[in-house]
Amino acid sequence: HPVQLSAVVEMAVDRLQPQLQARHLTLRVQSEGDVTVCGDEDKLLQVMLNLLTNAMRYTPPGGCVSVTWETFPDQVKVHVADTGIGIPEEEQKRVFERFYRVNADRSRASGGTGLGLAIVKHIVRSYGGEVGVRSRVGFGSDFWFTLQRCKDPASSDTASGHAVAP
Ligand code: ATP
Ligand code: MG
Repeated sequence: HPVQLSAVVEMAVDRLQPQLQARHLTLRVQSEGDVTVCGDEDKLLQVMLNLLTNAMRYTPPGGCVSVTWETFPDQVKVHVADTGIGIPEEEQKRVFERFYRVNADRSRASGGTGLGLAIVKHIVRSYGGEVGVRSRVGFGSDFWFTLQRCKDPASSDTASGHAVAP
């Protein structure tokens, strides 16, 4: 199904606004224009909610959470970044595993079961995308995922980069 990425981001942000405010976090949403992606709206909403919930949970009050996306001719790369506690290099590959939590003590205090990122990876991969993270302890994390762009005949979103030969 064609889904407007901005609509999914908006839904997730609306839902988490009270928690963002309660934790005194600044949210920034920035994009290179809207884009239509292929996927199920509910599933994509779950991806956004899981990543944003993590960003909120692992960022101390006063920090910043951002959602940005880069568009390419055939795909879009979405980033959910934060200025939080970060993840040690050697743990970064493992956080997408089911039930894996960095430093169980640190994580237990903040609740959760360690499934959120495994679900994110499963959903994104089911649409042919990839997931990853860049992070530095004490500075923050940048979780990203890719999705295929979808041609929606009802929208003006035409994938660029497909110039028609004269
Ligand atoms: P659940 O999502 O099931 O409620 P969870 O948030 O602990 O629990 P995941 O979302 O799978 O589980 O994340 C796995 C682990 O990765 C977390 O326990 C945490 O240690 C680490 N992590 C995830 N996101 C971030 C982030 N934005 N900053 C720092 N650490 C993170
Ligand atoms: Mg989580």
